[in-house]
Amino acid sequence: MHLSTPLSEALSTKREYIAALREMELITVEDLLLYFPRTYEDLSVVKPLHEVKQGEIVTLKGCLHGIKRLPTKRKGFSLIKALFYDAVGNQAEVVWFNQPYLLRTLPMETEVTLAGKVEYKYGRFTIQSPEVELSKAVQVHTAGMVPVYPQHDVITSKWLREKINPLLYLAKEFEEFLPEEIVKEEKLAPKSEAVREIHFPTSQKTLERARDRLAYEELFLLQLRAVKTKAEWKKSRPEWGAIEMISMNVDLVKQFFSTLPFVPTGAQKVAIFEILRDMEQPYPMMRLLEGDVGSGKTLVAVMAILHAVKQGYQVAVMAPTSVLAQQHLISVRKFMDIFGKKYPSEKPITVELLTGSLKTGEKKKVQNAIANGQIDIIIGTHALVQEAVKFYKLGLVVIDEQHRFGVKQRELLVRQGSPHVLTMTATPIPRTLAIVAYGDQDLSVLNEMPPGRQPIETKIVPPEHRQTVYRFAEEKIKQGQQVYVICPLIDESDVLEFKSVKAEYQKLKVLFKDFSVEMLHGKLKPEEKEQIMRDFKGKKIDLLISTSVIEVGIDVPNATIMLIEGADRFGLSQLHQFRGRVGRGSEKSYCFLYTDSDSQATFTRLKAMVDHSDGFKLAEIDMKLRGPGEVYGIRQSGLPDLKIASLSNGVLVSRIRKAAEHLVEISPDLKEYPSLLSILGEKEG
Ligand code: ADP
Ligand code: MG
Repeated sequence: MHLSTPLSEALSTKREYIAALREMELITVEDLLLYFPRTYEDLSVVKPLHEVKQGEIVTLKGCLHGIKRLPTKRKGFSLIKALFYDAVGNQAEVVWFNQPYLLRTLPMETEVTLAGKVEYKYGRFTIQSPEVELSKAVQVHTAGMVPVYPQHDVITSKWLREKINPLLYLAKEFEEFLPEEIVKEEKLAPKSEAVREIHFPTSQKTLERARDRLAYEELFLLQLRAVKTKAEWKKSRPEWGAIEMISMNVDLVKQFFSTLPFVPTGAQKVAIFEILRDMEQPYPMMRLLEGDVGSGKTLVAVMAILHAVKQGYQVAVMAPTSVLAQQHLISVRKFMDIFGKKYPSEKPITVELLTGSLKTGEKKKVQNAIANGQIDIIIGTHALVQEAVKFYKLGLVVIDEQHRFGVKQRELLVRQGSPHVLTMTATPIPRTLAIVAYGDQDLSVLNEMPPGRQPIETKIVPPEHRQTVYRFAEEKIKQGQQVYVICPLIDESDVLEFKSVKAEYQKLKVLFKDFSVEMLHGKLKPEEKEQIMRDFKGKKIDLLISTSVIEVGIDVPNATIMLIEGADRFGLSQLHQFRGRVGRGSEKSYCFLYTDSDSQATFTRLKAMVDHSDGFKLAEIDMKLRGPGEVYGIRQSGLPDLKIASLSNGVLVSRIRKAAEHLVEISPDLKEYPSLLSILGEKEG
């Protein structure tokens, strides 16, 4: 038997179990050994009964006697009883429910190891449903640190312990794939030892050592892959010559700044510098611009766009939806028009939109204009690069709010000639986390807000003040302003979420009967959602009730009130994102957090929203309270789903990053590290 042996051969078990394992993607012995415990039950203390405290869970050694099945009144219900004597003669009554087979299987009158919760009642010890194993055999349930695996209906922890333990000898087949230098430097446990110890630890200390090793490995592979992808992107266009470089033009920067009605922030200048420096290189840029809502990312992008266009390149700007694309069209055009008025050129800069909503004829026209270079800046949705658009000379791609930038998109871009790529996100992820989540990109952070923003007044609303807030909202609507209502988060269940938004809609339609009320939810088709957003933007809707599907980045300056139902169900980062939908115009804006909870912890958490307007600060508080995985949501943020490692250890993350970078530097194709290379390849698939 080997690590590669299929579990269907390695285990003698029912087909039903093999099927369940397959569903868990556990196919081979190796897969099973790499299925790690979630936690452990510490049964390392063996005591005589008289030293056991009331309700303590312990391991006992002794013998079972006089097993019997007792009749019960309830039909279909059975009771097994036995007496247990420990080595010094203490007695306990042991009871099991509905496990009649124990009559046949329990070892009697021979030394057993028994683990369970001991109670002392009516002058005697009782133990309910303990685990029992022969003392002379290997104990997997009743002694030491007993592994507890992730919950599963069919594949229980008990089952896994029994199956994994006898296969653990195969852990020796795990080859060391981490570079020797790293294993030495970090004093890491060998892989084979780590796998053995993670399942059945010899001690707390060896368990820790196993965890450290496996966490290191996990973060290392993740980052190594990112560093490699990054390096490969830079090499993706080998013929990239001097002529293709877009040089930084200080005069152009000054000219552009002089057309702005405000002074760029320090953070914007730094980001612009970082981007322009990237674009001067003889390889394509891959940079992420991270900045809170309203931090002025557009301006930074426009500076890069202007550079590319002025040096004869086309630029594609992509947004997640056509409403947002439309928004970008307006603001990019505005920047370009103002610039063009002050610094006219022979051929004015052209900015056009290409989205799915264009008629076929129109689309053709725009596509042709792109192909022959008449359009300088083309704005569309994320599908822009996918569609059969032929660019004349694509030099830069700007992508707004694309959380994950996958292999597929890179491939598409390579086909478009590997242009420079600037992605933007409003999710304030702290730098160490961003290194992991977006490790294949360079990072610029706008950590400063433009001055003079009116703060959004934020209030926590207890149930008794609900009506007051509704009346306040009504007043504002009468003054011509608009209101968002966000419905509580419901377990990612579309059906329940739809129900809740509908109930809210029916309620508010009555309360706000003189106004136009609409709802937005995940069950609508994309076009329907877009239409509603367009109507809201066009002031045809006064009050918009929405689930959390409401987009990041949607800009309706006339909306001044954000009401969030069940605010306690959202994380701070998400609440902050919602709040960012208001406060975009000249009127004072408000965010009301409704909660029915009267717990102090909830209040303290929500109070952070009242006290802070900085998204990074809130993210930090949120992470302390809930941890990174919870805060950012694995899927939407691009954060990896880690088995063992934690992202909270920033020092370790950075150290591993350096190690990965160093390795790729000294061995770009990892030829000297064949086992590492093969692991990387495997995990990619
Ligand atoms: P976001 O980062 O959310 O995309 P935007 O680029 O839409 O932010 O900018 C938000 C608003 O702030 C815009 O109206 C923009 O013109 C304005 N703005 C950008 N930079 C500055 C600045 N340095 N000073 C004042 N206002 C600015
Ligand atoms: Mg924006």
